[in-house]
Order: sequence, then structure tokens, then C-alpha cells
Amino acid sequence: MRLSRLLFVTLRDDPADAEVRSHALMARAGFLQKLGAGIYVYGPLLWRVLRRIENIIREEHDQAGCHEMLMPAMQPKELWMESGRWDRYVNEGILFDLQDRKGSDLCLGPTHEEVVTNFVRKQVQSWKQLPVTLYQIQTKFRDEIRPRFGLMRGREFIMKDAYSFDTSAEAMAESYARMREVYCNIFTRCGLRFTPVEADSGAIGGSGSEEFMVDADTGEDAIAVCRATGYAANLEKAVSRISAPAEPQSEVAMHKEPTPAAKSCEDLLKLFPDLPLTRMLKTVLYHVDLEDGSAQVVAVMCRGDRELNEVKLLNHLGALNISLASEDEVKTATDAEVGFAGPIGLQDSVRILADSSIEGVRGFLCGGNETDTHYLDVYFGRDLPQPETADFGTVQAGDQVADGDGEIEITRGIEVGHIFQLGTKYSEAMHCNFADEQQKTQAIWMGCYGIGVSRVAASAIEQNHDDHGMMWPLPIAPYAVHLVQMKAGNEEQDALAQEIHDTLEGEGIEVLWDERPKVSPGAKFKDADLVGIPLRIVVGRDAAERGVEWSLRTGGGERENLTADEALVRVRTMVKESGR
Ligand code: ATP
Ligand code: MG
Repeated sequence: MRLSRLLFVTLRDDPADAEVRSHALMARAGFLQKLGAGIYVYGPLLWRVLRRIENIIREEHDQAGCHEMLMPAMQPKELWMESGRWDRYVNEGILFDLQDRKGSDLCLGPTHEEVVTNFVRKQVQSWKQLPVTLYQIQTKFRDEIRPRFGLMRGREFIMKDAYSFDTSAEAMAESYARMREVYCNIFTRCGLRFTPVEADSGAIGGSGSEEFMVDADTGEDAIAVCRATGYAANLEKAVSRISAPAEPQSEVAMHKEPTPAAKSCEDLLKLFPDLPLTRMLKTVLYHVDLEDGSAQVVAVMCRGDRELNEVKLLNHLGALNISLASEDEVKTATDAEVGFAGPIGLQDSVRILADSSIEGVRGFLCGGNETDTHYLDVYFGRDLPQPETADFGTVQAGDQVADGDGEIEITRGIEVGHIFQLGTKYSEAMHCNFADEQQKTQAIWMGCYGIGVSRVAASAIEQNHDDHGMMWPLPIAPYAVHLVQMKAGNEEQDALAQEIHDTLEGEGIEVLWDERPKVSPGAKFKDADLVGIPLRIVVGRDAAERGVEWSLRTGGGERENLTADEALVRVRTMVKESGR
């Protein structure tokens, strides 16, 4: 492809709203253009990348016996009422819902469990038709709260979603295991460094689930990993072991202490420097919206050195939504200013829960439900009953791994894929059944499997870039070879570049040929670095002797003089090795 025929415009400066490198670099190189918040035009260069990713996805799914199909983006509300998800998604604000001219409610699909379950329930009658796994590559719509980071979190984005249908829990687990392998193959083939981690199932629901995280410091997800045991889990799901703090030296009666303006553990540490954080118990009040439309205030206790995890809380409560209680709610529940909530003397309607970190803590400090007051030397059992506990805490670096011996580290990643064992959640709700060998009706066992296709492209750049630009992994690069011609119009250079271009294209190796006449070599190199095509051949001074300059985008500027034929051999070898 001659670059002069491509609508090729590069920008010197990062767009003001670009918070991550992948966004800034893709925008500067014309890969994408913003149309609105979280809505992007995919330019020709990006589209080539996306198609390459899609093709890897297709090949791996087809090889594993999955079948591609295409479902509509527009989905009737009735299906979402059947599954029971309409209210949750509307409440979260994530759903783009709309009405047609007749007043019927629709949404633009954020995911397709309902539609595919409806499809299968109408097609499948007998066990003989199962198992089956269907997939599509399609545009999804989600009204994200913070659409930012370019392709990383769009409001309209491309997803591959697959759904498996089996006759038993065991068969579902087998389908899941097969898809897990498909996912590992896909991300490996895309040239990404990634980690599969245990994950929370979120609003999709179901039992087991894992996320595929591309390792990147800029990732939005925090991951707990233990190198000794191989444990890896999203922080929303991760569990760990912590030991109870040392007991106080002597047991004394509970007493109230004035704590003027001490609203945080930090303030309290100044007043009680001998009291460790582990023996200060925080009480956080949440406003909880429940599935039945009601709301309540819930108090959650946790050790002063630990943090609560709202996802774990939401799951435990089966709530639609939770958020920190408002100032008014706190004042009503505690009869005090914000910052002095505690378990003793809260308004009766407030439910009290506690993170398991409070277990075994004796002689602790807690809020007094009175402005500028805390209780000290409090004991569960002696002064108040221990509230219901569960794991609501966030794992911290240095914790012990729950199973086995080893310390937990916290790293960051970008979620590019997510796989779930759904069980019969959707099939039961939507009556997606089959007749077994005894003609008995049973619910179908489902799994679902998503890959953020456009996010894969962005994460490849988060992982592979330098100060000068992008560095595409060869398997998914828009072109394999960047052919830079120093001086267009020079007879020898024209001839050699044309020959290299035609040879490569003839072999099906994609080459971008920068033969722009009025652009300086320096500007051409700058653009080549920005665009990040992995293999580079420069045709210049030595063209008459068939000499070229060879370099890799990842080579740190290292260059080699080769003959055109030697360079072609290298290209062929590297392209073949990459599986491109
Ligand atoms: P996140 O936690 O990042 O919001 P999610 O868990 O809601 O994502 P899933 O429902 O698991 O996303 O969707 C499957 C995949 O689609 C994700 O693993 C991710 O790669 C991709 N994806 C999800 N939301 C977006 C988005 N707004 N923009 C681009 N890709 C997305
Ligand atoms: Mg997910």
C-alpha cells in the first residue's frame, strides 16, 4: 500500500483528553478519532489491527468447534424482564434504553445472554443437539460512568461474546476448560503478556469466573498474585489470611473518651499513640438499594488497617447498588456528626455487618455515635454481641495467601477477557430446556465468554510503546513491513522500493510504502516510529547497489545494512514465525 494514497495525518501533540499512552498515540497517528465521549471512529490503520485480532479469535474458536453467528444490537425489554436484569442494569445507569414509535422499550445490547438464550430455547429440544457453543463479534453499548482511556473503555465497543450450552454441570465445566485454553491461545497469538485471574462474576452472575489480565501498570484493575503458589485473583474477589492483633496487656471495662474532631484513624492515632491501628475498628455506613426497590442503611465494621471492598459487600447483600451513606443518613443513624459511627447505640433500623478482620480483636476502639466521642477497651461478647461477619475486606500486599505458604503482591492489569460458568441462571429464568435421554425436561447448563476486541488493541499498545510511538506485536500489526523510501522520484530508489513492495504484496505480506514526495526523511522516520509497524526496510543512498537499511521498531534504533534480498528473507522468516 502506498502511504500517499492513505488518508495519513499525524499530530505532533497528544490530545488534551488522552489519559493513557495507547489513547494518545493512536489519536496522534490517526488510528482513531473521537466522535463523542467514549465513541470513536476506527480509522483504516486501526481497522486492520482489529480485523487481525478478530481473525485470530475466529480461527481459535472455529478450531475448538464453536460456531460464529450474529445477533442484533437492539434487544426488546421483555427478554430482560424474563432474566430479571432490566432493573439492575437501568439502575446502574449502564443500559442505553430507548422506545420505538409504538412506545415499546428496547435497549442497545451491553451483552447478549438474553438474546442467545432465547435463540437456543427455540432451537433446542433434545439432548442430542447438545453441546453447542455459539459466538459473535459485534458492537456493544454501555453507558459507562467514566468513558475514558480511548478504546479501553468506550461506550460503543467491539466485543467477541461466546455462549456454551451443555446437558450437565460436568459438561459445562468441560466447555469452560476448553474455552479457557482458547483464550490462552488467542492472547498468546496476539503477542500479549497476560495472567488469568479468579474474578467476581458481577451483574452477569453465575458461579466460577476468570478474567484475562494484560500486565500493565496503567491497568484499571488491581490483582493479588502470589508467586510462590501461583495464586492470582482480581482484588474484587481475592482472599487472604491475616493474623489477629496482639491482645491488650490487661482487660479493663469499656469507657467513653472525648475525641474532639477525631474523625479518622489518623486523627485517633494522634490521640492514642499506643493503640495500634489493628485495634481501632472503623464503622462505615452504606446506603443500599435492594432488588425489591427498597433501600436501607447498613453499617459495616472493619479493622483500622484494612479497607472494605464494595463489590464483596454488594454480592453479599444481593443489592442492586451500594454507595456511602449521605451526611443526613449518617446523622440520623448515629445521632452524631459524620466520623463517629460505631456499633453501640446505632439506630435500630441499621443492620450491622463486619469484615472478618474484626474476628479475634479484643480491647478495641470504636465510634461512640456521639459527636467527638469514641469508646475504648471494647470487647465483643462482653460489651456487645459480635456482628455477623464475612469477607468484605480488600487484600493487601504482604498478606499471606489463603491456601498454602506465600506472600501476596498487588500488581495491575487490563481486563481483556472474562469467562463465566453461568450454570442454569438464565436457562431457568427463561425456560431454556432440553429433554434428556429419559424424556425428562431439564434446564440447559450455560457458560459465557467475552473478549474486548477493541480493548485488546489498546492494551497491546499500553504494553508495547516508547517515547516515540507505538510498537505493534507482529501478529496484529496493521502492516508487517514499513518500507521507507528516502527520496521519491530518485530512479534507483523508485525501482528498488517498487520491487520490494510488489514482491512482498505478491507473497501476501502487507507492506506500507512511504513514498511521499514532499516529506523529509526525518519526518518519515518520525511517523514510522509513531505508527509502530514492527519491521522496517529503508531504501535510500545504496539503492543502486540493491542495498537497504534494516531495523526493528523494537530495536532501540539499531540499524543494519543488508541487500534487498537479505532483508526479504528476514521478513519472510519473522512473519512466518509470528504466525501472521
Ligand atoms: P470492566 O470491569 O472493565 O467494566 P466488565 O467486566 O464489565 O468490564 P464484561 O462484561 O466481562 O466487562 O465484558 C467482556 C469484555 O469486554 C471485558 O473483559 C473487556 O475486555 C471488554 N469490555 C467491557 N467493557 C468495555 C468497554 N466499556 N470498552 C471496551 N471494552 C470493554
Ligand atoms: Mg468482566
